[in-house]
Amino acid sequence: MEEIRNYGAILVLSGPSGAGKSTIIREAGERIGEYYFSISTTTRAPREGEQNGREYYFVTKEAFEEDIKAGNFLEYAEVHGNYYGTSLKPVKKALKEGKLVIFDIDVQGHRLVRAKLNDVTTSAFITPPTLQELETRLRARSTDSEEVIAGRIANAKKEILAIGEYDFTIVNDDLQTAIEEFVTIANAARLKWSEKNEKRFIAHWFEETPR
Ligand code: ADP
Ligand code: 5GP
Repeated sequence: MEEIRNYGAILVLSGPSGAGKSTIIREAGERIGEYYFSISTTTRAPREGEQNGREYYFVTKEAFEEDIKAGNFLEYAEVHGNYYGTSLKPVKKALKEGKLVIFDIDVQGHRLVRAKLNDVTTSAFITPPTLQELETRLRARSTDSEEVIAGRIANAKKEILAIGEYDFTIVNDDLQTAIEEFVTIANAARLKWSEKNEKRFIAHWFEETPR
């Protein structure tokens, strides 16, 4: 049975930058079991306090384009004028190890992951209760210039329209409630089986049934 269950699952989180995705994942901590957080590669500059290899792999545009050519990305997109992408290799490894793989990617990335790995994917859209609140949080985070904040707000206005493409929505108003909802969704995501698992299970199920 172990062998049959031993294939991981994907949980895609999207939502405006400043919605609270990183905070929620961090605060949920060990309550969601062993997981692998997919560290994306980006051409944007690191924010204060960000470390290469922790939040992102920070690379040049040239290096990113080399990786595109080499087919190293599961998906990539241009967001706010920078490239962001998910490397295929570590994701494959984590899935083989039976882990829950968490992505913090945008709406375009979610569509691409769905197109490739729909059967093992669960998704949640995380948003603050209002546009006004998003703006307040982006300012309070004080990691971005006014120009960058304006770009993030403009992008958020577009991204919110894709909310219906996701399995679940988390309105991050009260942080503790949002964390509880996230834990429920993450644990449910683990129970989603790949088509391969289902087929193998059915074959096994018949074999074990006494005639
Ligand atoms: P994201 O990862 O989605 O870009 P962050 O986790 O960096 O967002 O959160 C953006 C800012 O909002 C941070 O300063 C964080 O402390 C704050 N924040 C997150 N959730 C809440 C909440 N429920 N109420 C108030 N502030 C919040
Ligand atoms: P930030 O600059 O705030 O870290 O991220 C900006 C946006 O890029 C967020 O919406 C985030 O979800 C998205 N993003 C981060 N990594 C990836 C990635 O690997 N692929 C895609 N498609 N989007 C990403």
